[in-house]
Amino acid sequence: MDGKFLDNDIDKVVAADRAHVWHHLSQHKPYETSDPRVIVEGKGMRVWDQNGKEHLDGVSGGVWTVNVGYGRERIANAVRDQLIKLNYFAGSAGSIPGAVFSERIISKMPGLTRVYFTNSGSEANEKAFKMVRQIAHKRYGGKKHKILFRERDYHGTTIACLSAGGQPERNAQYGPYTPGFVPVPHCLEYRAHEQGWGDLSGEAYGEAAANAIEEVILREGPDTVGAICLEPVTAGGGVIVPPEGYWPRVQEICRKYDVLLHIDEVVCGLGRTGTWFGYQHYGIEPDFVTMAKGVASGYAAIACCVTSERVFDMFKDDASDPMNYFRDISTFGGCTAGPAAALENMNIIEEEGLLENTIQMGDYMLDQLHALKDKHEVIGDVRGKGLFLGAELVKDRTTREPMEEKSVAAVTGDCMAQGVIIGMTNRSLPGYNNTLCYSPALIATKSDIDELIEATDKALTKVFG
Ligand code: PLP
Repeated sequence: MDGKFLDNDIDKVVAADRAHVWHHLSQHKPYETSDPRVIVEGKGMRVWDQNGKEHLDGVSGGVWTVNVGYGRERIANAVRDQLIKLNYFAGSAGSIPGAVFSERIISKMPGLTRVYFTNSGSEANEKAFKMVRQIAHKRYGGKKHKILFRERDYHGTTIACLSAGGQPERNAQYGPYTPGFVPVPHCLEYRAHEQGWGDLSGEAYGEAAANAIEEVILREGPDTVGAICLEPVTAGGGVIVPPEGYWPRVQEICRKYDVLLHIDEVVCGLGRTGTWFGYQHYGIEPDFVTMAKGVASGYAAIACCVTSERVFDMFKDDASDPMNYFRDISTFGGCTAGPAAALENMNIIEEEGLLENTIQMGDYMLDQLHALKDKHEVIGDVRGKGLFLGAELVKDRTTREPMEEKSVAAVTGDCMAQGVIIGMTNRSLPGYNNTLCYSPALIATKSDIDELIEATDKALTKVFG
């Protein structure tokens, strides 16, 4: 670390942070007195804070974002060169990086052809919701406008995205919500016993969870349901890998009732699970794919909503309609830094074989988590796909009663004190904020993973004995 910042009045920076920055997802009162954390520098898998303390980052920037790791000069250079040439022009016109990146990304997504640029995952999802609503107006007299979402999934922070949010506390004080969003049951097999479908497991459970979607469609009326929005692997809701049998049945149901399938790849996109996109493990063909975090690994703000030509055509097949287009804009969707960074990000993923590394290291880490489960009674379940893993903590393995948040936070807090950053399930699930979350950068090595596991092992021993 070059220490530049540390020599340069870091105390003033910390004071300004405490006085003026409204931190995301942070309780106000405790932050006033807790030790503030300003992250100053990053390289590879590691970051340094204002005290010069080194941390191994097991969560890619806190929220599954820095897929290719910190300090990538080639991305910085690509962005710099592009900014000097042309930093911006509104998305009603094209740009060189926008066109080149679009062609490149859809080459990884057979069946999809059109890329709509935005700035955040929430906004990308909003675009898909708006497209579904406009299709309902253009084709179905406004009737087929409902959008289904799944319990425990999250799709973003705007009011419409919260209306499609399956994590109650995130929504609690932000109503009234946007009408027309309807929940379907979650598909977490470990908690199947709470769903009242009998003693099901594996494929039978997956089919039952998908059939529950059909029941909702039939209850609401298939002529009112336009789309369903699902995470391929649920992230903040508990690292939920859908069981065998789930996805093929979901696809079948969508086709049967002409319901558009929207896959939210904001977390899984760009390699997190070892394929370019999470849905590609399951052989499904979505109509919309939204992506954000790993698209440029946080080197620039970029997100997109990708659709098929069939969807695109629905906005141009009636020349007599003055609204024969998607009447929408995102100002910063015209920034060129995003696609320039995203292109270099893809180059790195390909040239360094990071998808392959993600599969290998993900398998290794899952094995290590299973070994931890054998050692610590408090781990009820471990699950994951690629470098996207979780360990659910329970008070009792038989009843599966969730561990209380305080103790789970004590584990992540102890890891932090050891210089290792791991995450926990979103606190928005009262009673279910009990899963330790791991999502190291896709460059992780065995020794990085061993360090994450060792820190967790020590923390579990300290907190639970
Ligand atoms: N979708 C999923 C699955 C997410 O996890 C998130 C954020 O964590 C979002 C959407 C929202 O993305 P953003 O915070 O970029 O708006």
